[in-house]
Amino acid sequence: MKLYSGKMNRLVEELAALPGIGEKSAGRLADHLIRMPKDRVRRLTDAIIDARENVHFCRECFTLTDAETCPVCSNDTRDHTTIMVVEDTRDMQAYEKTGKYSGVYHVLQGAISPMLGIGPNDIRLKELMSRLQSGSINEVIIATNSSLEGETTAMYISKLIKPSGIKVTRIASGVPVGGDLENIDEITLLRALDGRVEL
Ligand code: ZN
Repeated sequence: MKLYSGKMNRLVEELAALPGIGEKSAGRLADHLIRMPKDRVRRLTDAIIDARENVHFCRECFTLTDAETCPVCSNDTRDHTTIMVVEDTRDMQAYEKTGKYSGVYHVLQGAISPMLGIGPNDIRLKELMSRLQSGSINEVIIATNSSLEGETTAMYISKLIKPSGIKVTRIASGVPVGGDLENIDEITLLRALDGRVEL
């Protein structure tokens, strides 16, 4: 039985297709949206369209940005010889929020997962390796999540980099297993960074 009119159903269906939003939340959101002043709804849809059209990957680190290179990569005061490898932009934001990391990043945009059929070629690994060719990199800090996928990715990357002689470290396992970096508090993040071990 369809509870809403056609247009309302369409809205609920679109919202429910987003990650983390079930049918119930979608219904609640849709209900909220149609009660919102029209100009606020327009502001929201404009923001979505504008971001979708203008946000792309940073040319250097592959985080999301609307400039050619992101603010971190284009900052000359950052230490460009240290690269922290993370799975996604939200993980990078988590470390940026601590304000204590002065190196740059490489955002893989995913992690290797044989279960989901995601291989090394499906993430931004080639791009990382080509950044290392410059010869100016002193350390690669692998800060992928401590999930099975994150660990698999960390192991794969370290094996790949090792022969180059570049120092490869892994953040300490103070980060709970299966933990998404973005949900972990700053102190734990910094402890994990300080306690990193060479692979
Ligand atoms: Zn960047």
